[in-house]
Amino acid sequence: MFKDMFENNSSLSFEVFPPKKDDEFANCYKVLDSLSTLKPDFISVTYGAGGSRSKKTVEIASYIQNTLKIDAMAHMTCVGSTSEDILAVTGDLTSVGVNHVLALRGDKPRDMSDEQFENRIFPHATDLIQFLNQNTSLDISASCYPEKHPEAISIDSDIAFMKMKQDMGAKMFISQLFFNNADFYRFVERAEKANITVPIVAGIMPITSAKQIGSTVTLAGSSVPKQLADICAKYSESPEDMRSAGIEYAINQILDLRKCGMGHIHIYCMNKPKMTAEICNSI
Ligand code: FAD
Repeated sequence: MFKDMFENNSSLSFEVFPPKKDDEFANCYKVLDSLSTLKPDFISVTYGAGGSRSKKTVEIASYIQNTLKIDAMAHMTCVGSTSEDILAVTGDLTSVGVNHVLALRGDKPRDMSDEQFENRIFPHATDLIQFLNQNTSLDISASCYPEKHPEAISIDSDIAFMKMKQDMGAKMFISQLFFNNADFYRFVERAEKANITVPIVAGIMPITSAKQIGSTVTLAGSSVPKQLADICAKYSESPEDMRSAGIEYAINQILDLRKCGMGHIHIYCMNKPKMTAEICNSI
């Protein structure tokens, strides 16, 4: 996977999440079947920050890798984990042939006290990466934040930790969602100046309902440009028009990124194959 990505400076990948309820798995597999027809380079699967549903991530990643024969990347967070927890998950992943993880710290889970958070065993994703390197042979990628991580002192300090992740063996970065490509271009330039040489994949989240801006986007800490805020205000009472305008916004972001030589695109597709197909068919 990495070799091809380096050589072509171009890739298309999707992020999916495991279903919350066990009886939703059949539908999730249908979603994945549809997404597979779009021939992504890889599909990544999210992970609950506390890790309690890690087996669901493994199950979905296994379906992608073994049934659909598409490279799967399993997200993995360490905020609430012990070394034993992490080894149990990596063992599960390896046993089903999923060899690529997105190593993350994760946010503080709701049921974790401030004291537990302060005293967590793996303080940062860098600690997880180091542990994975020492104890597994998994391929490792990591996250990055074009508008800086909300807790970071500055973009430069965030980029310094990115460099640490690269030096520890991270082979690729996937970015937090952003809506203003100029933020991403500035960020990539700064990262390159700091000797980040591995692919930086642009994370694109299509906004198909006005309320998404208030939930997902606020959580991610990404800023909303006036053009997108205006779209949400204009179509707040018209869901179909909002959906079309949000998809068009994402398509334009991707086309501009590719025009500017940023060839690696990761679509936060929110388990919506129809929307994802509409985007892919237009790019
Ligand atoms: P870190 O890299 O640890 O960074 C967190 C903060 O600490 C930053 O401010 C950073 O600058 C700083 N920092 C980093 N390293 C060090 C260090 N060694 N010493 C001191 N400070 C340091 N969450 C989930 O729960 N499940 C998911 O599946 C998931 N998938 C994601 C996918 C992507 C592409 C992205 C961008 C985020 C994802 N998240 C997910 C959210 C992520 O867990 C949160 O953003 C979390 O707050 C930070 O995780 P991180 O790995 O970036 O943390």
